[in-house]
Amino acid sequence: MSGPTHDVIIIGSGLAGAAAAYRLARHTPRILVIEARARLGGRAYARSFRNEGDSELLEYGGSWITPWHERIRSLCGELGLTLRPRTPIRERLALRESGPAPLVFDSEAERMAHQRALARIAADAMLLKAGLQHNEKGEPLTGLSYSQYMARLDPPPATRALQDAWWTVSGGAPMAEASAGEFLHSCAYDSGIAEDMINVWAHTVEPSMDTLAQRMIAASGAAVVTDSPVASVAQSDTAVRVTLAAGGIHDASHVIVATGINPMRTIAFTPPLAKLPQTAVTRGQRGRAFKLWIKARGVPVGRLITGDGTGVQLLFGERTAADGSTLLIGFGLHDEHAPLADAAWVSAQFARLCPNTEFLGYDWHDWPADPHARGTWVSTPYDLAHAFTAEAWAPQGRIAFASSDIAPENAGWFEGAVISGERAADWVISGSPPPH
Ligand SMILES: Cc1cc2nc3c(=O)[nH]c(=O)nc-3n(C[C@H](O)[C@H](O)[C@H](O)COP(=O)(O)OP(=O)(O)OC[C@H]3O[C@@H](n4cnc5c(N)ncnc54)[C@H](O)[C@@H]3O)c2cc1C
Repeated sequence: MSGPTHDVIIIGSGLAGAAAAYRLARHTPRILVIEARARLGGRAYARSFRNEGDSELLEYGGSWITPWHERIRSLCGELGLTLRPRTPIRERLALRESGPAPLVFDSEAERMAHQRALARIAADAMLLKAGLQHNEKGEPLTGLSYSQYMARLDPPPATRALQDAWWTVSGGAPMAEASAGEFLHSCAYDSGIAEDMINVWAHTVEPSMDTLAQRMIAASGAAVVTDSPVASVAQSDTAVRVTLAAGGIHDASHVIVATGINPMRTIAFTPPLAKLPQTAVTRGQRGRAFKLWIKARGVPVGRLITGDGTGVQLLFGERTAADGSTLLIGFGLHDEHAPLADAAWVSAQFARLCPNTEFLGYDWHDWPADPHARGTWVSTPYDLAHAFTAEAWAPQGRIAFASSDIAPENAGWFEGAVISGERAADWVISGSPPPH
């Protein structure tokens, strides 16, 4: 009997799978990429507003890269993509009972309590960045949820609302489940103040991030099959067999599983996943944010508004559309209080944050309901962070795992996906596990 048809099968065409294919191409001629969806790119997903073909591409999944995301920057240069700087923040408002206004406090005592809370967060963020697990008071910085951390901080209500708004774009998960450390880690990107984390959202990629994934895969010369969810991955001593939900079979010497953690619960592994990865898959990463694109008139580009702890919690006038209206991005937590399919609810949310303006429409992608994502960017359960590390997801036999969800650095970002994909490819090339 002849050997397997492919040297490497990569399951998933997100940035991790695409980077793995691109890295492998010079060493391995017979690569197959199997993708569940009809399109490539995974949680990188750009299309026109409400599929109105004549308008520009908008990112419905991830969009920003930071100044230190060197792999993405370098790949964009190699593959002919350009970088678009983020619109500067020109105005910051916070939602109060009387409507959106600059954040001011009713009393000197409240203002002081606000400053104390921000100073505490900044100090904790920097201590965590320095590698400490406790602050100077002996309070833990890891192993507790965002809710527990905020209860300990006990800030004034306006301060809490402001932190919650920024939580939606850092942890982006139910506050009682996900790690406070993720919030502190994001604060430490810049000054330690949550509001300053936006300073590192430096660029978006043009024409789009999924174009980068497409170009990496095309340049790799890999064969690609789309619309083909994988149902099982079974390895023997000599090969790995990948079976599609629709019944097709592909064999390879090695497989890189680049689906992200949550979709893996629909794949049967033989032999089963090791205990820690299986625990991570069973529990799932908790990322449950929503991202909306809203079109409106009367809101200036560069205005940033934070909410009051419910619904749309962060709204930013991102750019001017071709028709002269403003395109805003809105974030919040995708829970039972956010009926995002209800246009009247979204419109009312917008009116709270931008009164006396004109709401023209909105669009979004439902990532938690998408069977091939089952969540947004990675947010680990606060008591299970050790099951989402690159160490926990070391290769098993002939199978390696790659995703931003388990990246050794920059997890949750496109950069992490690329680093994780390249690491998995290096493991196949060298024939030995990557160093931790
Ligand atoms: C709303 C949103 C905003 C974000 N904002 C940012 C941001 O600003 N900056 C940033 O850097 N990152 C951001 N992210 C995170 C970033 O998009 C992800 O970390 C990254 O795209 C994940 O890449 P990946 O390759 O690990 O996984 P994915 O992109 O999810 O790729 C996995 C692929 O596997 C496929 N797949 C799944 N199951 C199967 C199966 N059974 N068989 C075959 N194929 C399968 C999927 O269809 C998918 O194509 C955001 C994410 C979201 C959702």
